[in-house]
Amino acid sequence: MSQLIVLGSVNADHVLQVPSFPRPGETLHGNNYQVIPGGKGANQAVAAARLGADIGFIACVGDDSFGQNIRQTFAQDGMDISAVHMVTNTPTGIAMIQVSDSGENSICIAAAANNGLTTEIVEQHGEKIEQAKYLLMQLETPLAGIELAASIAKAQGTQVVLNPAPARSLPDTLLAMVDIITPNETEAEVLSGVAVTDAASAAKAAQALHDKGIATVMITLGSKGVYLSEQGTGKIIPGFKVQATDTTAAGDTFNGAFVTALLEGQTMDDAIVFAHGAAAISVTRFGAQTSIPSRDEVEHFIA
Ligand code: ATP
Repeated sequence: MSQLIVLGSVNADHVLQVPSFPRPGETLHGNNYQVIPGGKGANQAVAAARLGADIGFIACVGDDSFGQNIRQTFAQDGMDISAVHMVTNTPTGIAMIQVSDSGENSICIAAAANNGLTTEIVEQHGEKIEQAKYLLMQLETPLAGIELAASIAKAQGTQVVLNPAPARSLPDTLLAMVDIITPNETEAEVLSGVAVTDAASAAKAAQALHDKGIATVMITLGSKGVYLSEQGTGKIIPGFKVQATDTTAAGDTFNGAFVTALLEGQTMDDAIVFAHGAAAISVTRFGAQTSIPSRDEVEHFIA
């Protein structure tokens, strides 16, 4: 049984580099078109596996060639893929991603096979969740499955880490089962009603999430790092300064790396620095899973 269970999405990322994002009705020429493995769940799972975590992945892929090949790629990255299901007559989830010359991205996704991650599938893997130390989830798969997984984890003391992305409002019943939440600024605002613009507003947003029963709130602030709030005390832990090429999967790399470090018994602060290092390397590279660094690279970078 794996120490970390990641439950989440798998997508084929169709990536195009663009000079700027097209306005409605505008056509622009892009270049460097690539199809790259992505999906928030898969990115976080691959990050954790590549950085040395003992991880099992609960996910659904389509029965297209991408879905068939990606299971083997996950296995090569060292994760347990026995709970990666193949949904028949359905394509793997897709993301259409534009990356601008400034390194920002604009993304449109279609869930497809990810919608197959139902409560029935989650139930089949209840024991894996119960026996893990951490359960890491995002919001690109059906909410009912996420809620069930959280309740199975909560009942057995498995720590629930929720990266509430993409941004959406969530029931208080789910938030009350979360131990650590890792929203970015937009997601923090959607969940708390407080616009996050600086440390003071991050503290307010974090307090609103503590009030919903979440012990640890970590708001990621892009190149500025994270705002960490625990038991009423909060602080910014800055990230590393790098030249960003493509921030796709920065948050995913951060989350996978962060939980990997926690699993190893690192302190919250050290786990964040480790995750900052992994995410900083990832933004200097193109693509989602293609940008996730190895353990050696991260250790060398943060040394
Ligand atoms: P994405 O959706 O692009 O994957 P996100 O919005 O979920 O990312 P961010 O808050 O942008 O998450 O970034 C997460 C972490 O990635 C940051 O806390 C930081 O460690 C790292 N990071 C992001 N952007 C940069 C950057 N330009 N330079 C260095 N580190 C970065």
